[in-house]
Amino acid sequence: MKAPAAALALALALAACADGERDDAREDPGDVESAEPEPDEPETDEEEDEPEPEEPEVDPAEVGADELGQIPVLMYHQLRDDGGSDFDMTPEEFRSELEFLFDEGYVPITTLQLARGEIDVPAGKSPVVLTFDDSTRSQAYLDDDGEIAEDTSMGILIDVAADYDDVEPVASVYVISGSLFGGQEDGEEILAALHEAGMEIGNHSHTHPNLSSLGDDEVREELGRNVDVVTSIVDDAEVATLSLPLGLFPNDESLAVSGEWESTGYEHDGVLLVGYNPAPSPFDADFDPAAIPRIQTNVDPEFQFGSAWWLRALEDGSNVRRYVSDGDPDRISFPEEVEEELAEEHADRANPY
Ligand SMILES: [Zn+2]
Repeated sequence: MKAPAAALALALALAACADGERDDAREDPGDVESAEPEPDEPETDEEEDEPEPEEPEVDPAEVGADELGQIPVLMYHQLRDDGGSDFDMTPEEFRSELEFLFDEGYVPITTLQLARGEIDVPAGKSPVVLTFDDSTRSQAYLDDDGEIAEDTSMGILIDVAADYDDVEPVASVYVISGSLFGGQEDGEEILAALHEAGMEIGNHSHTHPNLSSLGDDEVREELGRNVDVVTSIVDDAEVATLSLPLGLFPNDESLAVSGEWESTGYEHDGVLLVGYNPAPSPFDADFDPAAIPRIQTNVDPEFQFGSAWWLRALEDGSNVRRYVSDGDPDRISFPEEVEEELAEEHADRANPY
């Protein structure tokens, strides 16, 4: 997708503003609505005598905005020098997939932002969710200086993102609370460092069981204990999304969304599946935050329904439409011919063109 130069310059200007808002959202997503009381309607006459520096309106058609398009939620596991299993990648493959994404205009957001429909990416850009399961050591450990090591998934993400003006290194990290980053004694420090770096910490249970084989109380313990462990290490972490271990729901599916174990309650605004397709837009009537599909990462474009396969399909656009932002998180822009996809509850923010 090529944007005209003027639109691109505008997108870059907006990116600078969007970054600040994203930082606020990470600190306290609950307050994001009230934190930025920005007029989104055209100024009325009586306000004309106090001019404010205003962001120029983006023409959604000019940037090809489609906020009912699909969003890839990519599922990563380990980095392995030998490539590991079909679920793993080499460090070089991972780096080149990130470069491909950012070159293609994707900007990472968290699962929680997707689930809540709080998508604040520059005009003409597309959101992508980068998810990491199982809290393995190849995803993160701390080097001798206490920094996230460069040869880990998180270290590579931080390094690659630094080369792009409008990309923040953001990921959703689904931890097994009984085995934090290799189960070594520094697991707690690694978790705290990831939170500090702005990563979303998500629930992947305490011991990674097949939840469908457990009784209800055991399910509550597996999910509640995770929240208890994580928040006892990082007390301001908001554990509000779940990646189902093995992609399997408990028998009582509602327990994946909320429950209570001892004195710890848990409440997941988003539940991730192991899946094979991009997620619908959160503004699409088909979007179900309690069952968000993910794409298995695989750098081989011939590997059907893997990440390279899907990213090329989204680039091509003939069978699947990619979400493209209009740059205004309060407005939902899309070509009018797809209007029937819009969920009714978002009709008041719709901006068909
Ligand atoms: Zn897992």
